[in-house]
Amino acid sequence: MSIARAIASPLRRLAPVAVRQPSRMCFSSSRNLQATWGFIGLGRMGFAMAKNLRAKLPAEDTLFVQDVNTAASRKFLEENSQGVRIADNVREVAEKAETVITCLPEPQHVKGVFKQMLEPATLLKDGVNKERLFIDCSTIDPMTSAAVASDATSTGQGIFIDAPMSGGVVGAQAGTLTFMIGAAPEVVEQATAVLSMMGRRILHLGAQGAGLKGKLANNYLLALNNIATAEAMNMGIQWGLDPKALAGMINISTGKCWPSEINNPVPGVIEGSPASRGYEGGFGVALANKDLGLALTSAKEANVKLALGDTAKALYDEVERAENCKGKDFSVVYRYLGGRE
Ligand code: NAD
Repeated sequence: MSIARAIASPLRRLAPVAVRQPSRMCFSSSRNLQATWGFIGLGRMGFAMAKNLRAKLPAEDTLFVQDVNTAASRKFLEENSQGVRIADNVREVAEKAETVITCLPEPQHVKGVFKQMLEPATLLKDGVNKERLFIDCSTIDPMTSAAVASDATSTGQGIFIDAPMSGGVVGAQAGTLTFMIGAAPEVVEQATAVLSMMGRRILHLGAQGAGLKGKLANNYLLALNNIATAEAMNMGIQWGLDPKALAGMINISTGKCWPSEINNPVPGVIEGSPASRGYEGGFGVALANKDLGLALTSAKEANVKLALGDTAKALYDEVERAENCKGKDFSVVYRYLGGRE
């Protein structure tokens, strides 16, 4: 069975998480197969990821890059002149590259780019005569991802896996991202070899779409924990508790979570946290809200009942608009609630 047909087979239930560690063996097995690569979307994440990819590829391989923002492509070429070509458009990337990585903002961008890449359905005739491996690292909804995957596989032009990531811009620059992948078992090793050039941990969650489902479930929990932490800290401080003492107690108690321990929203509680730097840097409130919205839409689509999602979304919408909060780390919810700074 071809890999395209395998991935098109009915979605199987989520398998236990398999953590893949990068290995030279994985890399060299892909090396025999790959010589041309594509990267589309050289934004905050993609630029650094493509840079790491290029640095780890054999010198004789070629990386075709494309971004609607031509300044980003030009800058990438300036910084990585060896073995990099700017493609005229995304169709050219798909024709020339055997493996194509996309890192785009939202579902409509992924849909649009894949439409251009896959139509007409003659990639194998017009370019490299081989099924492509498409790896989409964008955080989008699983329904759009499945539709795009089907367009790729049903036309026999390639296989498509979802590989959303966590680790932020700092992780992208350091090459330490975590990728959550949804892929047929046959392509996991190859995808792991590719992603290991940009990240440290590759978690295979199941069939196509599973990576996004895992990512959105996690970010839903994070969005709620962030609000709950801000409220609990604000509550305790208003009651007269010392912020550090309160956080220290929570962090050895049952309320402990990432926002309380690592990204505490109260300035001064954790040295170097976004809150302690005027909420600069970190995980932008708009991105957190975008992921929450995707989780809610996808949950509705699957008839999953959520008690807190809509309330949280309404709050993030307000925080995103508030003059003293917009553009800041999402822990700025604490400021929005009137927390003492
Ligand atoms: P970004 O907006 O900085 O970059 C996206 C890039 O895609 C831009 O350079 C844009 O010009 C380009 N682009 C848009 N449409 C295009 C098209 N039609 N053809 C070619 N290029 C096009 O976004 P980002 O921060 O790099 O995030 C990318 C994805 O990764 C998003 O889905 C985001 O949710 C996810 N993500 C981001 C972070 C983060 O910390 N920034 C962390 C994890 C996941």
